[in-house]
Amino acid sequence: MMTGIPSRPCPLVLAAPSGTGKTTIAHALVERFARFVFSVSATTRPPRSQERNGIDYDFLSREAFERMIDEDELMEWAEVHGNLYGTPYRNLEEARDRGEHVVLDIDVQGARQIKERVPDAVLIFVFPPSAEALWRRLTARGTEALDEVRHRLEAARRELEEAEHFDYIVVNDDLDRAISRVRAIVESESHRPSRALDLDAEVGRLRSEIDAVVREAPDVRA
Ligand code: 5GP
Repeated sequence: MMTGIPSRPCPLVLAAPSGTGKTTIAHALVERFARFVFSVSATTRPPRSQERNGIDYDFLSREAFERMIDEDELMEWAEVHGNLYGTPYRNLEEARDRGEHVVLDIDVQGARQIKERVPDAVLIFVFPPSAEALWRRLTARGTEALDEVRHRLEAARRELEEAEHFDYIVVNDDLDRAISRVRAIVESESHRPSRALDLDAEVGRLRSEIDAVVREAPDVRA
């Protein structure tokens, strides 16, 4: 059964204040659904205990990161909480060539740069349901000192101002519901005429089928 006109994949940007759960949403999309791939960012931040090099991030020295900037290998990059983070062009190119939706888990500054450079990217701002939930998530990680948690909450206040520049807002009040909302957005986006792989061919095919039906139709008048 045909479910729609074949469409170009959708570069998906998930941005949110730190601790909102967007990384969990991004990884869940890739694990649960075909055709989604995670964009592994480069960073100068040291790995946390569970993180794997090349899977969660490419963990680089500052020199190696700066070399990537100099060699114009990054689609966007930003300094976040004192560390450098960036999205290699390669991630977007490879996903496009394979017909996969690439999921970028990046900060609000990076999202703004992607909007300028990748016009067909879909930007989703993930909201926490409440400040209390944000506080709980930031402290539960157990990796940040209290000063750092306070700093991240202050950053969240500022970042929320950018929400109006996004295409969609998804509230992460419940993980499964938030994932379904993001999935539904990508599904709707794939039905935009501008994403059709070859709209002219589809229109042409339907028109000639209509011509054939008209030609072969019996005269239904009495
Ligand atoms: P964390 O250190 O907690 O993993 O990430 C800190 C922030 O940096 C998060 O908001 C995360 O989404 C963001 N980030 C991760 N990768 C990138 C990237 O490639 N570019 C930008 N601009 N931000 C990123």
